[in-house]
Amino acid sequence: MTASHPPINSKLPEVGTTIFTVMSAMAAEFNAINLSQGYPDYPISEELISLVHHYMLRNYNQYAPMPGVPFLRQEISNKIQRTIDRAFDADREITITAGATEGLYAALNAFVHPGEEVIIFDPAYDLYAPSVKLAGGVPVHLELELPNFTINWEEFESAITEKTKVVVINNPNNPAGSILTEEDLIRLTDIAERYDLLVVSDEAYEHMVYEPYQHQSILKFPKLSQRAVAVFSFGKTFHATGWKIGYCIAPETITKELRRVHQFVAFSVNTPIQMALADFLKEPKHYLSLGNFFKQKRDLFLKLMEGSRFVPMPCNGTYFQLMKYENISDLPDTEMSTWMTKHHAVASIPTSVFYNRKTDNKILRFCFAKSTDTLTKAAEKLCKI
Ligand code: PMP
Ligand code: GLN
Repeated sequence: MTASHPPINSKLPEVGTTIFTVMSAMAAEFNAINLSQGYPDYPISEELISLVHHYMLRNYNQYAPMPGVPFLRQEISNKIQRTIDRAFDADREITITAGATEGLYAALNAFVHPGEEVIIFDPAYDLYAPSVKLAGGVPVHLELELPNFTINWEEFESAITEKTKVVVINNPNNPAGSILTEEDLIRLTDIAERYDLLVVSDEAYEHMVYEPYQHQSILKFPKLSQRAVAVFSFGKTFHATGWKIGYCIAPETITKELRRVHQFVAFSVNTPIQMALADFLKEPKHYLSLGNFFKQKRDLFLKLMEGSRFVPMPCNGTYFQLMKYENISDLPDTEMSTWMTKHHAVASIPTSVFYNRKTDNKILRFCFAKSTDTLTKAAEKLCKI
């Protein structure tokens, strides 16, 4: 039935359903092992579930304060003090959001005015550019340089115009599995200061950085974090992507603007999970063990794939492993991932979708946040291709 309404002038006419939804649906349709959308297939901590239950029974079921439950914001502040030895004010600098997604959307919409340019490094997580466009801004896409997906800082500096307002970084990078080094952040500090830029730092995978590397949070760099919002995801850190809870850290003046948007997008985030996470955060090993946990999964997946014709790319962060397939096929990556899902029952993500120009490097992304059994079965199938 055609609905009767005035014509809708789409604000995002070029946007379809996200690749994560498309590939997960295809995996279900063809009964394929789903290494596409990034989410764990193993259970989360029972202790954390019990804590949520505990707080629900004690009637923590009404609206949380708009910026987040104070207890959780204080525990986040304590965590940062413990891990990077810097003090962030729980009341004025920390905001709980409905996932990193809402934090990023709120940050970009707080910062960007119509016509202003935002620099994004491709391959980029798919929400940055649409969020910029909904704010009336103009995404300016630069490409990270292969093989290690590094930022070309000279190119970055020459892309800055009078209209450039914000730069988005994603460290560790989804889908690339690359990380930024201390030198990168020093370069960024210098350029951001000279051109007076704001920085949105997506650090959803902060605890998934593999030895010998260490996560270089923007929060470690006082001059940079003064002009930045850092965005984090509890869904990633505690293996519970369906909980959609994250947080933003920014100086008071920036936080004030961010909350102006947040209060009309989500207003607040569910109370019992905030209370439970606050308790859970008191034990540092709950998040400090993550690097080792996922490094083992990455190494297992790589070992299982040794007999295959796929060629792994370096993965120093995130729970995604990129694989080149040029030894197998010259199909475009979108067709390759569809063909593999239908005919070899393993779903992956084509990386060209993360490029504004749809750059096809013949690379697929595989999520290794999966049980040993899932990874073993998937690798068996992939080794036969
Ligand atoms: N940024 C990146 C790079 C991500 O991969 C994701 C999620 N998968 C998000 C942000 C969104 O995180 P959340 O699920 O907490 O909204
Ligand atoms: N971040 C997850 C990924 O990269 C998916 C998030 C989503 O489905 N929106 O796979």
